[in-house]
Amino acid sequence: MMIKNPFIILCGPSGAGKSTLLKNMIQDIQVLTPTISFTTREKRPFEKDQKDYFFVSKEEFFRKISNGEMLEWAQVYGYYYGTSKKQVEKIWNDGKAVIKDLDLQGLQSVKESYPQSLTVGVFPSSKEEAKNRMAKRKASPNENQILRLEAYTSEVERLEQCVDVKIINDDLKQATLELQKEIKKYLFQEID
Ligand code: ADP
Ligand code: 5GP
Repeated sequence: MMIKNPFIILCGPSGAGKSTLLKNMIQDIQVLTPTISFTTREKRPFEKDQKDYFFVSKEEFFRKISNGEMLEWAQVYGYYYGTSKKQVEKIWNDGKAVIKDLDLQGLQSVKESYPQSLTVGVFPSSKEEAKNRMAKRKASPNENQILRLEAYTSEVERLEQCVDVKIINDDLKQATLELQKEIKKYLFQEID
């Protein structure tokens, strides 16, 4: 038996490997379904509209807030990001589990509304490593990598205080295995 209305939140500084781990999780654990957020950020060259995000204008984003379509939303690194209420409800109605990476404001807001959520902090081995990974990943033209790096230390400090589970994403294979184990334990209340 799976817990009711599961919601797994991955949170961590930019370049920690949240999107990579999320992709590995949905391949390995069938019941996990990611929501596709709305964002006003520009698309990165390798990203696909309606698959990685719904890339929308600021006007459309705020229209969705007024229409009550957002479960939560936040301004992060200069752009707006928000989770679709309808998508989350559909995943739960289908008997599946939500998984999504959110910033700390999103994490806090979801945890407050849905205390059964599992909050996971994803950390790179160092700030230098996060910087290298960000450089490797092709950014969109106006993406501010300096702003993302400046936020690093305070994000790590605040996250360490509040998450249920901490994953250090140094070796990707090992981090994937650790996270799989934690998610299965949470979903199915498995005990070692
Ligand atoms: P985030 O979503 O946390 O910002 P990404 O998942 O986009 O981070 O990862 C940033 C970059 O680092 C990507 O190019 C990804 O392939 C790479 N990456 C992720 N995890 C590792 C790892 N353990 N070791 C080396 N590179 C990694
Ligand atoms: P990125 O631009 O790197 O894809 O995402 C920037 C930050 O926004 C990351 O911390 C990511 O987890 C967060 N994020 C992505 N989607 C949402 C969302 O719908 N709501 C909130 N609050 N944060 C989000």
